[in-house]
Amino acid sequence: MSRTGLQLLRPEVLDFSPYSPGLGIDEIKTRYNLENVIKLASNENPLGASPVVREEIERYAGHAFRYPSSGNLELRQALASMHRSVPERIICGNGSDEIIDLLIRILCVPGQNNIAAFRPCFSIYKLQSRLCGVDFRQTPLNPDFSFNFQGLLELVDEQTRIVFVTNPDNPSGYAASWPEIENLACSLPQSCILIIDEAYLDFAEPAQSFDSIPLALASQNIAVMRTFSKMYALAGLRLGYAVLPDFLADYLLRVRLPFSVNLLAEKAGLAALQDQTFRQTTRELILSARQEVTAGLQDLGCQVYPSQANFLMFKPPLDPDLVFNQLLSQGIIIRPLKSYGLAELLRVSLGTSRENQLFLEALAKILHEN
Ligand SMILES: *Cc1c(COP(=O)(O)O)cnc(C)c1O
Repeated sequence: MSRTGLQLLRPEVLDFSPYSPGLGIDEIKTRYNLENVIKLASNENPLGASPVVREEIERYAGHAFRYPSSGNLELRQALASMHRSVPERIICGNGSDEIIDLLIRILCVPGQNNIAAFRPCFSIYKLQSRLCGVDFRQTPLNPDFSFNFQGLLELVDEQTRIVFVTNPDNPSGYAASWPEIENLACSLPQSCILIIDEAYLDFAEPAQSFDSIPLALASQNIAVMRTFSKMYALAGLRLGYAVLPDFLADYLLRVRLPFSVNLLAEKAGLAALQDQTFRQTTRELILSARQEVTAGLQDLGCQVYPSQANFLMFKPPLDPDLVFNQLLSQGIIIRPLKSYGLAELLRVSLGTSRENQLFLEALAKILHEN
């Protein structure tokens, strides 16, 4: 690339360090010449796409030449009835990622407003803030990964437009109860929107103790984001939504690219909402796997952090890099947390019983041999 070419780019773009995703299955098959690879790196649903949803996608495959609906009204209506709300307070996006990006862009003036969150946090918040030229402030989580609300409030001033909280949190799995979230919301100035990212809420036990949507519906400065990527097993189709104050939903819908939610994603989302059996099965699987894998890791001498999500963060009794790489060479992909600034920790997504068993056996062997 020529130097003059680079001079054309915005400074925020030149400085940008891209999102670091979990490794892909095909990549690892090729690298280690393996036939079977188990991916426990991106918190996907281990059951795969539900049969009901597959059927719906097949039914609509022939409609792929049509533009999708522009406001996703049918899907927003279905979500509204699920959350006892109205479609005017809900927007859908190409994953929650798109909604995060849009909220930053409609609320924050570059170089003037700022955003506050914990450290570590989901990296998309920071990446999109930086890309927009918006100051991103962080305060460390408590040493046990619980939320330091006081520290968060100390970051907030009259120029703060967004506070991001992930609940249950990624990568720790920690979750604060909704009265704590309500306290935070009440302590924030009205000029600041509290965005609660509840990507993993469906796995919390009991989920109602952590659900902030009723709080958001009664408020004008709380937004709650949910996704179809985890519990609903649609990560590859890209579908997320948010419950918002009505003025935010209205303006988000105006500025959003009109067709960012594709036709198959909308149909799949509608079918997935109907498919309670699949969600029930997933929930039972994850809740029992959480107990089993926690116990299994502890038996191997790992320190495991309590989790309300479909993954576990743990500290192995051996160099985490070595553990990660040896698991990888055996075709088991988990997530190193170096990119979160947690080099001593690892994160494993909960899989099927068989996947979890193979993971624990492989880990036991690595710990035994080193
Ligand atoms: C997985 C995840 C999401 C989901 O993002 P999508 O764009 O909807 O796939 C959102 N927030 C957090 C913290 C996540 O871990």
